[in-house]
Amino acid sequence: MKMNKGLGGRQLAGELRATDAGNPVRLLGWVQTLREFGGKSFLDLRDVSGLVQVVLEGDFPRPRREWVVEIIGTVRMRPDPNPDLPTGQVEIVADALSVLNEAQTPPLYVDKDDNEPDELRFKYRYLDLRRPQRGEVLALRSKIVHSLRDLLHNEGFLDVETPVLTKSTPEGARDFLVPSRERKGSWYALPQSPQLFKQTLMGSGIERYYQIVRCFRDEDLRGNRQPEFTQLDLEMAFVNEEDIFGLGERLFGAAMTSAGHPLSAPFIRMTHTDALKNYGIDKPDTRFPAPLYDLAPTLGGKGIKFLDGALEKGGIVVGMAVAGFFPSRKVVSTLEEHAKRMGAGGLAWAVREGGSWRGGVAGFADHVALDESINLCGVAGDGVLFFASGDALSSRLGLGAVHRSLRDNGDLGKPNTPHAFCWVTDFPLFESDGDGGVVPSHHPFTLPRGDLPLLENDPLSLSSYAYDLVMDGEEIASGSLRCHNHDLQIRILKTLGHSEESLGERFGFFLEMMRYGLPPHGGLAVGIDRLVMLLTGSPSIRDVIAFPKSASGVCFLTDAPGVADPHSLDGLLDT
Ligand code: ASP
Repeated sequence: MKMNKGLGGRQLAGELRATDAGNPVRLLGWVQTLREFGGKSFLDLRDVSGLVQVVLEGDFPRPRREWVVEIIGTVRMRPDPNPDLPTGQVEIVADALSVLNEAQTPPLYVDKDDNEPDELRFKYRYLDLRRPQRGEVLALRSKIVHSLRDLLHNEGFLDVETPVLTKSTPEGARDFLVPSRERKGSWYALPQSPQLFKQTLMGSGIERYYQIVRCFRDEDLRGNRQPEFTQLDLEMAFVNEEDIFGLGERLFGAAMTSAGHPLSAPFIRMTHTDALKNYGIDKPDTRFPAPLYDLAPTLGGKGIKFLDGALEKGGIVVGMAVAGFFPSRKVVSTLEEHAKRMGAGGLAWAVREGGSWRGGVAGFADHVALDESINLCGVAGDGVLFFASGDALSSRLGLGAVHRSLRDNGDLGKPNTPHAFCWVTDFPLFESDGDGGVVPSHHPFTLPRGDLPLLENDPLSLSSYAYDLVMDGEEIASGSLRCHNHDLQIRILKTLGHSEESLGERFGFFLEMMRYGLPPHGGLAVGIDRLVMLLTGSPSIRDVIAFPKSASGVCFLTDAPGVADPHSLDGLLDT
């Protein structure tokens, strides 16, 4: 019996071609459909590689949908070729059919995608994954991860595993906690990231570390997040930002190539300040030209009272235009909601159609000033002009949100390129906690940039060596150069409000490690789920995870979390 390359030597249904005609075959797989026609039965047999038609002539068992069968037969040319099927030129005429297992009538059909609700699709994920388009996403994920591992291995990185039952690793979320039976009243935390361990590996003389690792963050799950997700986590000693950006670009080059997408490197670079100024967000979607413009020179003093008032108070007026788009009042009011949600006071607008102005501020604003403004925003013909005035940050964030909403609705047209990457650099070291204190803008182990005396006096003014990599407007990787100086690390942690006692309790082992010759180092973590989602064009992160969780953190398949076995609880929670 001739074997094609198959799976470990096994002949696969989807690989049969005209050149196999006349060959005997043994196939193993699932019955997709069985049709009776002209005294014969036609069975579509599916395995991991695809489908082939099997003809049953004579007395055979009649298997039903999703039964598992073995077919022994011969490949022959099909009298009625099916051009839509890769195996469509041939069929198998069966000599024997054995039923290996039966199946109940499935609650979802493998040969159709009926857009069932997620609850159903993920509860029966094993059936959903039999659909070729779903299984292919996992296959592509495996290929992408393989390409990343290959590249890192070839560049001298060691794959090192770090603990899952561990101490809290602060990344700004809540920890998932596991009680200890031996040390009563004490808890392990599941890692939010391997940050402290990867830095400790730099102190261990492992100069290049990576791990494809599960991270756990107990946080709000809206916005396409999962409580457990996968990162490519890496760290390097004796590097600067350029080294890390270069490696990042090679990694994404490998991932994109394995997913069949072209990539143009080097990536765009933008400081955090410029991203906010020009895109109104720290995750600029650089597939579109920067949308935001300062309109104070064209609109200031032109009869728009609220705008002049904002400028007098030291605020700004920021504008954006979209060519050939004429929104209704209703659309504008939805967009205004988006702007207000980001803190903008409102959204002003006017439309230029056939060369004349109407709608919004057109009733009272100077039309020549509006012409100058829309031209400044890059629209020479008809279209809509939006602007917001007031506090600089919230006006920009507000218009940034308007831009994203227009993008998502397709009102900005097609992007300039299918995928675009941008390094956003120089993040602030801290952000305000809204209560007079500060929180890390990435995490507390980031190296501050510039004037260190400001750490205690004006922490919010300090920038840092933290960067994000943004793909199509989504944060896809994040990292920084790290603080490797023990005393500076303590100052940072104290600025964040840690007492001596909490420093010792939470980070004692780490701070001690820093005293024993920690080299300068830096690293990066890449969100694998999100990367695969973008590269496969999947609408949701759930689609790229074999067994995902719901928005309330429930496993669709197993219904976890569940009640614990009383024996497992024995002695766990009493202190
Ligand atoms: N630990 C960071 C994170 O998980 C990434 C890094 O700084 O390397 O977001």
